[in-house]
Amino acid sequence: MPSTQDGLTWNRHLTGLRCIHCGHLHQVGPLTAGCPRCRTREFVANLWLEYDLASLRHGLQRTTFTDRRAGLAAYNPLLPVEDASGELSLAEGNTPLLPAPYLRRAFSQVWLKDETRNPTFSYKDRLCYTAVSAGALLGRRVACVASSGNHGAATAAYARRAGMECVVIGTGTPLPVMAAQMRAYGAKLVRAEDTERWRVLRRCVEEYGWWPTGNYTWPLASGNPFGPEGYKTIAYEVWRDLGERVPDVVLVPVARGEGLAGVWKGFLELAELGLADRLPRMVGVEPEAGGPLARAWRAGRELTGMEMLTPGRTVAVSIGGGVSSTQALLTVRDSGGHALTVSDEEILAARARLAEEGLLVEAAAATAVAGLSRLEREVPALAAGVAAVVLTGSGLKDAIPLAVDFEPESVPVVTADDFARTFRDRFGVDPSELGVG
Ligand SMILES: [Zn+2]
Repeated sequence: MPSTQDGLTWNRHLTGLRCIHCGHLHQVGPLTAGCPRCRTREFVANLWLEYDLASLRHGLQRTTFTDRRAGLAAYNPLLPVEDASGELSLAEGNTPLLPAPYLRRAFSQVWLKDETRNPTFSYKDRLCYTAVSAGALLGRRVACVASSGNHGAATAAYARRAGMECVVIGTGTPLPVMAAQMRAYGAKLVRAEDTERWRVLRRCVEEYGWWPTGNYTWPLASGNPFGPEGYKTIAYEVWRDLGERVPDVVLVPVARGEGLAGVWKGFLELAELGLADRLPRMVGVEPEAGGPLARAWRAGRELTGMEMLTPGRTVAVSIGGGVSSTQALLTVRDSGGHALTVSDEEILAARARLAEEGLLVEAAAATAVAGLSRLEREVPALAAGVAAVVLTGSGLKDAIPLAVDFEPESVPVVTADDFARTFRDRFGVDPSELGVG
């Protein structure tokens, strides 16, 4: 395993990848399919990157949190890959924290972390900065992801930045704006049926050595463990911009819960570094058409018992999934938080309310805002004090049809068995040759 590549090195304080279920500490490496030690046919646990924070604490400069010029590269001492020159960054992060007195109700303050201002207009840029950096350090030439939207666009942009190829596997008919954006960054797009896409991706990862920035396995609950490391910087910035204070409650829209868990990990690290003296309660908000996390939370389910639902349609297309993750459930439990669902009507009303205040967000982002009043009704004790809400992506992506030169039908449909042939026919290159030479 390379430890340096093109100016990239592993963080010397990184001690390994810790399984959140069995506790085993794995060596740093390309462990992108969850914990191999406690994995079963029905269950997989997430791995969390672990640092020697005790020794890191002494050498940490205050400027790590206040240098707003460098994007996430400023946080390199706390991220897995040291990108000393900042070359892989697109100046993501450092997004504004906006006061929202019009949403306050039972809370003393409500703050909106406006992630729509990121380079590809969603908070996935944070995830992809750290996930793609790790792939680049490992010498991978192709990044891949199952996505029809934000995750695909961010992977495409960051792969391009790192000199890697990018293949995005979507399901259904892609939203034209999202697909056009991915293509503009040079991504190759294919489509596959819902469960088939995991077989396709698995083949790409295992046969071609492509680097997945998201989940590619079944049972589906994992994701690239280097990704939430980017999300944790949201916690650093909220803490910094509240005057080095921790909010009482943080609301995050949830699909697989990598964002929810990543932000929680950031607050945990701030506390362990001696910078924060308390922790927030984490609230995951899902559309009620699915809601696997909220259902597991209500049922008091053990971390090993995540259920696969068949989700209905929702306006919040970015988070309309049928399965969540062990790390999402653990985050809600350990933080003393909550998981809830909101209706499409509540989501659209929240989006309209934000737009009246000058903020156009995607429906998935409005889901977390809708969670504020739902939380007040369901758990009044949590609806107090200072709340921070993560607005994950821009409304331009799913709200406004743009005139773009893109035909959704031109994205070929693949299965695991015919993937190589279809890919060759469509793109003129064998997938095994992609990124080579
Ligand atoms: Zn394990």
